[in-house]
Amino acid sequence: MEETRMPSEAIALVDTGQFGVRGYGAAYVLRTRHPALVDSGTSLAKDRLLAGVRQAGVEASDIRWIFITHVHPDHAGGAGVLLPHFPRATVVVHPEGFQHLANPERLSASAQRSTGAMAHHYGSFAAIPEQRLHAAQDAETFSLGDGLIRALHTPGHAPHHLCFLEEESRALFTGDAVGLWRNRSLLPATVPPQFDLADSLRTLEHLRAREPQHLLFTHFGHGADADGILQAYARELRAWVERVRCVLNTEGDEGAALRQLLNEPDLRALPFNETAPEAELSMSIRGVLSYLRRGQRGQR
Ligand SMILES: [Zn+2]
Repeated sequence: MEETRMPSEAIALVDTGQFGVRGYGAAYVLRTRHPALVDSGTSLAKDRLLAGVRQAGVEASDIRWIFITHVHPDHAGGAGVLLPHFPRATVVVHPEGFQHLANPERLSASAQRSTGAMAHHYGSFAAIPEQRLHAAQDAETFSLGDGLIRALHTPGHAPHHLCFLEEESRALFTGDAVGLWRNRSLLPATVPPQFDLADSLRTLEHLRAREPQHLLFTHFGHGADADGILQAYARELRAWVERVRCVLNTEGDEGAALRQLLNEPDLRALPFNETAPEAELSMSIRGVLSYLRRGQRGQR
């Protein structure tokens, strides 16, 4: 299966069991001389992550880095509870995410609001001491002992989003910047409160210019045709926002537009996840509605 075949021996995928299903949430272990994790799953995934690190043949006490693509709970929620198990690790995050992970009260409240009925699948945040956090500048590199990984500022899904490019294999850890990749379909990752179309499209062009050879999605796994997928996601995002905009114009208000879209058969058939696909679809619609609303108020 392309999704779970890794582009390099040095990279191992850990299934975080998000929403209680397989093949939806991933974290990655880099088995390099200075080992690392990319994303951490939610706090509920802690035991899976610890087992994944062990299975990858890495000692927890050797882990040097936890690279966080963004501070949404399915990517960053596990970092605070894993840290006591990784005494030498530093958590790398976007400068705008730094305070959120050090003082996660606001982040927890925002995650509760955005995830609604699904909140119980998203765990909680534990505060991370500031001296164990590092705010990554754009294009900053980090040593893996026998290679480098580069942090890239990639706003769009959220303004504080990072992707990480492993220079040896040219594998790009995409977080949610390139959407969701399931059953060889791309699904829009356009969640509230901060999705921005223009930023996303600029980010996709910047990522293409870095010429990654492989994409490694948090949701989920390996996409081999990196440039083709980056171009396809840009096309799909434009069409997706246009579709929501049209329905909003026809229906006249957000609630009616949301109900209409949730009933459209092709959208209901998208492979979001098996536990509560409608909740995920609803989040991606609400993120676009919020983006359009901010545009009307001139807040973009
Ligand atoms: Zn996510």
